[in-house]
Formats: sequence, C-alpha cells, structure tokens
Amino acid sequence: MSAPAGRARRPIVAGNWKMNLLAAEATAFCRALPAGAGAPPGPEAVLFPSFPLLPAVAAALAGSAVGLGGQDLHPAPKGAHTGDVSAAQLVDAGCGWVLAGHSERRQGHGESDALVAGKAAAALGAGLVPVVCIGETAAEREAGRTFEVLARQLAPLAWDPRLVLAYEPVWAIGTGLTATPETAAAAHGFVRGQVAAAAGGEFAAVLRILYGGSVTPDNARSLAAVADIDGFLVGGASLDPGRFSAILSSFAA
Ligand code: PEP
Repeated sequence: MSAPAGRARRPIVAGNWKMNLLAAEATAFCRALPAGAGAPPGPEAVLFPSFPLLPAVAAALAGSAVGLGGQDLHPAPKGAHTGDVSAAQLVDAGCGWVLAGHSERRQGHGESDALVAGKAAAALGAGLVPVVCIGETAAEREAGRTFEVLARQLAPLAWDPRLVLAYEPVWAIGTGLTATPETAAAAHGFVRGQVAAAAGGEFAAVLRILYGGSVTPDNARSLAAVADIDGFLVGGASLDPGRFSAILSSFAA
C-alpha cells in the first residue's frame, strides 16, 4: 500500500458513515479492517461515525492506526447550543479529525461559507484536523459556475497547514455519478491554484485535497492516479469494511 512514486503528499482515505450503523455494527466493522490499515507507508485512514457511536468506535480502534473524527461541530467552545457538539467535546471523545461544511450540512442545515470557516477555525484551535468540504451542485455546474462557487467557498477559510480540503461535487454524492478523472483533475487543479493565490505556492503544494462523490473500489484506482487527488472522502462504500479496505488499496504503487 505504498504511495506511487512521485506522490508528494500522503493520501487520506476517510469514511463518512453519515446517519448509519449501530454501535455493535460499527465495532464489527472496525474488527474486520486489515491489521495495518492507516499505517505508513499506506494512506492515512479515518472514520467519521455519528456522534453516539464515537465511544464504541474509539474503543474498537484503540491501538490501531485508523483515525477517528466527528461529522460536524459548532464553532463556539461551549454554551447554549442544543443538539450541537464542540471541538473540545470531540477531542474528549477521542477524535483527531472533524468534517466541516459537508454538502448535507450546507444544504440541509443552511450552513454558510462563513459558518463553515468558523467551524474549521474552531477545530484547528482545539487541535482537530478539519476536513472542509466544498463542491458545486448540478445546477451550478450546468450554469458554468463551478469555479465561481469553489472560489466563493474557499474565500473565508484561514489557511493552516493542518487543514484538509475535500472536493465533493454535490451531483456526485450518493448518486453513483462519479466525476471522471478529467473532471476531478480540473476542479482539483483550480482549487490548488486558488489556494496558491491566497496562501502561497509552497503552502498549496503540501495541502491535501481529497475527492468525494460515489467513490467505489471500481473507480478508485483511476481517480487515485490523478496527481492532484490526495485521497478520498467516501460515503456509501465506506459502510462495508471490505470495500473501504479495497479503496485504501487503490493508492498502492
Ligand atoms: C460523502 O458523503 O461525502 C460522499 C462522498 O458520499 P458517497 O461516497 O456515498 O457519494
């Protein structure tokens, strides 16, 4: 599972379980992962279970190299925010990572670009690695507005070397419509160029940009071959340990 020759950035394969699995199923998933999943020289592996599963998954992953993350956080450190969780609470639950700005949060919960940037900053302040999701809808792509939307979503972010981006075209999430390697390459190249303009070329050269949108064991290898794709954020196919492991293996040399 070593990185292909010339790959400068260590890939990440992350599983977004969304509102799926119960504690016993999540524990069984972790036990079914191959020994060494997430360990160098292979890609980093991270699981994002829903909040109630975090203690069970943290216990099941103890001693493994697989990281644990929350699916969302509130930007405030604490207080009257019923139903929300803070960055410190995620750290306390054993998380090292957190998603921010997933399209299901932007669309289903009306999250703005500024709010997502605030979440990323709060995560970094607590020592979590934020995986900030960006991406255009089908209507925005059809209207030729993909790059405009990506630039707008990137604009409020504060550039920190720990931050990770995930380009997730909304039309590809959970639809089976994966971006072609060429489409993904164009978007990733645009995003890296925007980051270079905002934070400098050296920063952009080490920033990891994941692709997400109906990644499966069947399409992962051709997407992993795109130079600007530094890993995957996987929804549906991350619910099966065999499929998740196969996607991890797509970054093998
Ligand atoms: C996601 O939820 O981030 C995602 C990419 O889902 P799927 O792989 O199911 O399209």
